[in-house]
Amino acid sequence: MTHSQSVLKTNDVSSRISKKVIHSVQLLDRIRQLQLKYKQHVIVAGDVMNKITRRLIKEHTPRDVDVMERYKISKEMIIKGVQCEGCFVFGMIKGYRTWNCPHCSHSSRNPHIRALKDYSLFIQNTITNQQARDFLKLSSISVASKLLVSMKLPYTGATRGRTYDLSSLKDLQK
Ligand SMILES: [Zn+2]
Repeated sequence: MTHSQSVLKTNDVSSRISKKVIHSVQLLDRIRQLQLKYKQHVIVAGDVMNKITRRLIKEHTPRDVDVMERYKISKEMIIKGVQCEGCFVFGMIKGYRTWNCPHCSHSSRNPHIRALKDYSLFIQNTITNQQARDFLKLSSISVASKLLVSMKLPYTGATRGRTYDLSSLKDLQK
């Protein structure tokens, strides 16, 4: 189980399940225990080992699915603006320090990160200042620039026409 706070509850009295299902943080210890317990090498290096190696790498590579194609979504269907985490309505307004929701008065510091993550998943992996202003519904070039710079994204190009790389956002949990 990858989430550190997940709890496994079972009515299996033999505790068979809780011996097999563990938190990911315990995985390395568990492998070491198994190595101590089973010292004889059953699989020797060679074809079988290579096959297992390839399989593990393949199963551990994230799938790069074109969600737009798969669910028949066009770019025009993506709602622009920053979504409120309180009432889920789009259109938070950027204030001096926070984004504020005109519908429920919820305010939040970084809801634009979620929006840009969505942009990277649905539209493209890179964004310019102009594209960010359009997508986040911001009018100010300098405010958009400040937001993008504060996220410490890798970029290419000079100040004008600079392209920020959003691919690192894909790994964010939220
Ligand atoms: Zn709201």
